[in-house]
Amino acid sequence: MMQMSRRVSARPALVALSITALTAITAFTFEAPRLHAQARPTAPVPAQPALVPDPPHVCTNCAEWNAPRQPFKLYGNTYFVGPGGLSALLITSPQGHILVDAGLEQSAAVIDANIRALGFKTTDVKLILTSHGHFDHVGGVHALARYTKAEVVGSPQTARALAIGAPTPDDPQAPPTPPPGVDYFPAHEGVRGVKDGETVRVGPLSVTAHHVPGHTPGATTWTWQSCEGSRCLNMVYADSLSTVASDGFRFTGGNGRPSIVESFRASITKFGALPCDIMVSTHPSMSNLDEKLKKRATVKPGDPDPFIDPGACKALAAASMKSLEDRVKQERAKR
Ligand SMILES: [Zn+2]
Repeated sequence: MMQMSRRVSARPALVALSITALTAITAFTFEAPRLHAQARPTAPVPAQPALVPDPPHVCTNCAEWNAPRQPFKLYGNTYFVGPGGLSALLITSPQGHILVDAGLEQSAAVIDANIRALGFKTTDVKLILTSHGHFDHVGGVHALARYTKAEVVGSPQTARALAIGAPTPDDPQAPPTPPPGVDYFPAHEGVRGVKDGETVRVGPLSVTAHHVPGHTPGATTWTWQSCEGSRCLNMVYADSLSTVASDGFRFTGGNGRPSIVESFRASITKFGALPCDIMVSTHPSMSNLDEKLKKRATVKPGDPDPFIDPGACKALAAASMKSLEDRVKQERAKR
């Protein structure tokens, strides 16, 4: 998801402001979560040079999306490290970590602070996986990759978007004529493109890419397993399946572009059939993350964890299919 925005030019004062904000964010304290043996943090964490974020994105929702959020363990070696309204997950191993998505430009500092707050080293991130090439999910990629020297991975189409620092021309949200600065994000060259069904690895970690084109041509959902003792669960990082589009774009085709309705339907069906125990969507609100967190705070020992919901992917698929079919009906009515 994204919407109209503009980027501000690089100015030292803004960078200084971001560093001040980072200091404020790192100052908050909370009870450290109990960490699974497999996801042992490096303790004590030695002093590291601070991440220097790129100039912040400016958009209507940016402040709300980037609000600080206390990081927490989802399950096993998987942690939520994103800000309030944008997801970013950390999958940990003693041989290095995998980060999934990076939020806005200014989210890079929040994610860095959250990883440290959990007791891990951000510089131990070896791979940064991406969902889709919109500024609200990959704006922070360049700064985090620069800081960690991690390789960035995504679908070939997302790799193209990152190379130019903007949605590709075949993106439903690409502006009809690309004005400089609108919806742009820091470009990042050399993203490794992965095929549908391909698995990427760091040490013992393996995460599989599932191409789900529709919201963007390069949309990618990621799956892996996380374990606590002998209980291993199917983890899903669900890419956006919403029909947000620029004015004049038709999913049913037109203006010289083919219909993408069939491939979008196929993506939604494929997503709904994934093995799914714990699902987190690119925007936490789309998978009711805060409601689940509130419930989790009140569960008694022995009660089920509200985050474990084998029906979550099917439910999001059903809602997304309805929204797509509504959009198709609206477009056909306007023919
Ligand atoms: Zn998007």
